[in-house]
Amino acid sequence: MSGEVGAAATAAVERLVRDVPDFPEPGIVFKDITPLLADSAGFGAVIDGLAQAGRDDSGAPVVDKVLGMEARGFIFAAPVALALGVGFVPVRKVGKLPGETHEVSYELEYGEATLELHRDGIGDGERVLLVDDVLATGGTARATHDLVRQCGGTPVGLAVLLELGFLSGRDAIGDLPLTSLSVV
Ligand code: AMP
Repeated sequence: MSGEVGAAATAAVERLVRDVPDFPEPGIVFKDITPLLADSAGFGAVIDGLAQAGRDDSGAPVVDKVLGMEARGFIFAAPVALALGVGFVPVRKVGKLPGETHEVSYELEYGEATLELHRDGIGDGERVLLVDDVLATGGTARATHDLVRQCGGTPVGLAVLLELGFLSGRDAIGDLPLTSLSVV
């Protein structure tokens, strides 16, 4: 991403997100965000960088809601929503939301996952920014995109700290604009 805000956010991700090899299983390099969260200046820079994805060139917010994917997406999406002055909406794993939901199931490397969104979480025609920590295969992002559509909303972008380029998650989200603070 470009500009001073984007450069500070990218620097924070590259300095403070830690690689943990072979977690949670052999062969996976886990991107550990906890050192970033523990650094107030770095965390703030990342929130400002992600929030840029929900602004126009003049800095005005262009979204009605910010949606975060359970669980690490919540940590970033909620402060991004506050920065933009709009509401936060959670997408949760199946069985956690108490109200009427839409649900989407999708393939994981081993097995299947189901995500849910409250039917009244997104209003008809609302513009929604999706936020998560890591874009890997894109399955989670694709499912979340489809949930927003089921509610009648319009996904206007996906903002992530890290894009694992070798997994081609970008291909899974079609023409949804992607903001990645860092690509590995
Ligand atoms: P995917 O649906 O494959 O794009 O996976 C995205 C979700 O899995 C994100 O919500 C991430 O939190 C998590 N994830 C996938 N790969 C990693 C990784 N290498 N390190 C940390 N989190 C990951």
